[in-house]
Amino acid sequence: MFSFSKYLTNDIAIDLGTANTLIYIEDKGIVVNEPSVVAVKKSNQEIVAFGIEAKEMVGRTPGEIITVRPLQDGVISDFELTEQMIRHFIRKVKVNKFIRPRIAIAIPSGVTEVEKRAVRDSAEHVGAREVYLIDEPMAAAIGMGLPIHDPIGSMVIDIGGGTTEIAVIALSGIVNHTSLRIAGDEMNEAIVQYLKRKYNLLVGDNTAETIKISIGSAAPFDEQGSLKIKGRDLVDGIPKTIEILGKEVQEALAEPVDAIMDGVKLCLEQTPPELAADILDRGIIITGGGSLLKGLDERLRRETNLPIVISEVPLECVVRGTGKILSDLISYQKVLTKTKKVYIT
Ligand code: ADP
Ligand code: MG
Repeated sequence: MFSFSKYLTNDIAIDLGTANTLIYIEDKGIVVNEPSVVAVKKSNQEIVAFGIEAKEMVGRTPGEIITVRPLQDGVISDFELTEQMIRHFIRKVKVNKFIRPRIAIAIPSGVTEVEKRAVRDSAEHVGAREVYLIDEPMAAAIGMGLPIHDPIGSMVIDIGGGTTEIAVIALSGIVNHTSLRIAGDEMNEAIVQYLKRKYNLLVGDNTAETIKISIGSAAPFDEQGSLKIKGRDLVDGIPKTIEILGKEVQEALAEPVDAIMDGVKLCLEQTPPELAADILDRGIIITGGGSLLKGLDERLRRETNLPIVISEVPLECVVRGTGKILSDLISYQKVLTKTKKVYIT
């Protein structure tokens, strides 16, 4: 049946991640899914590319152009570029021109009040009628269909690019929360450092990420694969190719993986006993791109002795959860982050 009210809605859900920005629209699904990267001209700060196009330039730009990740380590490191990037992605979305949109944005839970205000302002500048901010772990939990309204504790671990967010959620609130600045980016960096140390080989971030995704793993996963990679020799400066084994990548990733395990254990220790009992029954749900690292689920299972469930759509559940909230603001009222609108005079 033709629904007039649906036809008129103009709701935009955004996952403003440190690595990827996604936009979801009810009825259309995910309409934007691009890296949170901006390429800028050094001399006059002119923006030359956003998203996919900008990420392809990482490590390949002529001296005059630099690539920037405006949300680094889970905080907004560059307000101006963050705003430009949000505007750019929203502009790509075809919305009803006659109605100003309602925009809900999931933000890393470590962002400060000032940064929240900046995100809110950016959304208003692009014409939002109403803006809602949501903590990323809460959006992820809703996206995964957890019973967040019930007095039952759920533990969610979201391993993104800049941060690993560990949260215990019950009664529509975050009961306990830890944000580690160790996640996918640190894993890439660990691979870069390993190759430098062991092979005197210098590779860029994108190469390190490809290595991680194709043959990276967490112990005790039995990764048998190998990969030929190209880089520059640190001694003679000449390009060279080496073959790296999956086992070596696992060794390279040991440090960041250990740090994530320690963070999870610490968060479990701080969880109130009643909720800990719920987690014992229900297990831990893991999501975010980093949760796709091979063997990570098994490793968590061994270290915590708890059931571990991987989200079916780890890269999408935050934006899907944000969309759900927007489509039912009344039931989700409690999860909206309250940032007061402050006018600076
Ligand atoms: P954010 O929410 O911070 O934007 P995402 O949830 O989009 O982050 O996850 C991005 C991170 O996940 C990146 O560091 C990326 O390298 C990593 N990633 C994506 N796919 C895989 C994979 N198959 N194995 C390991 N890491 C992955
Ligand atoms: Mg995320």
